[in-house]
Amino acid sequence: MNKCYFCGGRTKVKKVSVDFRWAGKLFVVENVPVEICDQCGERYYSAEVSKKIDKLVKKQKSSKEPERILEVPVFSWQ
Ligand SMILES: [Zn+2]
Repeated sequence: MNKCYFCGGRTKVKKVSVDFRWAGKLFVVENVPVEICDQCGERYYSAEVSKKIDKLVKKQKSSKEPERILEVPVFSWQ
C-alpha cells in the first residue's frame, strides 16, 4: 500500500477497466490491477501494467484477439 502523490490518501490495488487512445483508436482493457487512491480516485499504473497494455494493443493483430468490440459514442461539443 502506498500514499497518494496528490492528496496523501491511501491507495489500494483494484481491478478496473482502463480506456486509452492509441493510434487514433479507443481501447479498453478490463480487469487491470491498478492502484487507486481511496480519497481522490487518482490512478497509478505500474510499469508492468503499462508494458502489458502496450503489448496487448500493439500485437493485437498478430496474437490475442479482442474479447469483444465495444461501440463508443463520441459527441462533439460544437
Ligand atoms: Zn489521492
